[in-house]
Amino acid sequence: MDILLVEDDPSVAASVIDGLENASMVVTHVSNGKDAISLAITSNPDLILLDLGLPDMDGQDVCRAIRETSLTPIIVLSARSEEIDRVLALEFGADDYMVKPFGMRELVARIRAVGRRANQTDSPVVVPTQIIGPVSIDRRTQRVLVNDVDVYLTPKEFDLLAYLATDPGAVHRRNDIMSEVWDTNWYGTTKTVDAHVAALRKKLGNQDWIEAVRGVGFRLGIPDS
Ligand code: CA
Repeated sequence: MDILLVEDDPSVAASVIDGLENASMVVTHVSNGKDAISLAITSNPDLILLDLGLPDMDGQDVCRAIRETSLTPIIVLSARSEEIDRVLALEFGADDYMVKPFGMRELVARIRAVGRRANQTDSPVVVPTQIIGPVSIDRRTQRVLVNDVDVYLTPKEFDLLAYLATDPGAVHRRNDIMSEVWDTNWYGTTKTVDAHVAALRKKLGNQDWIEAVRGVGFRLGIPDS
């Protein structure tokens, strides 16, 4: 993420830059309102961190000015002496605010949360239902139908089916299945996979739809029509 940091206190700026760079963010730093407004437009950052107490302008006016031309998310940074409430921050166009002193972990978490929300409003993620022959898989609602009849899967069974369905017909290695579905590096037995495959076959009502490929893993072999 590209962050525009607007902060006139050099020591606060240095620690924020340090913390954000450690979180793999790229920081452009300015220390007054005039530069903030021009860079908000010309450098098109992903998010703006805006100190309210600036030497040349009131941070609220900077925020309003940026909002006239840009929808870039803004998190306001305020000192205790200029403590604001969330309602006021939202009124002048900020997306969130943090009161100094704040911890870097919390700041990074807020930046990511605000960034995610902004992305969602820009382009809502539409996950279409995947249809493979008689099976339909809806990843948004975690619903599976076989011949238009609901099949009730456990969350892991659903994840396993959804993962195999990312590339129907391709062989998925056991270790990949373990790390994708169980989110872990698996050094022990892969019996868990076998047990879930067996349960899934039974619930789908067809033993042949999930084929074991000896010594490798499994592939989804649902016929297309
Ligand atoms: Ca300040």
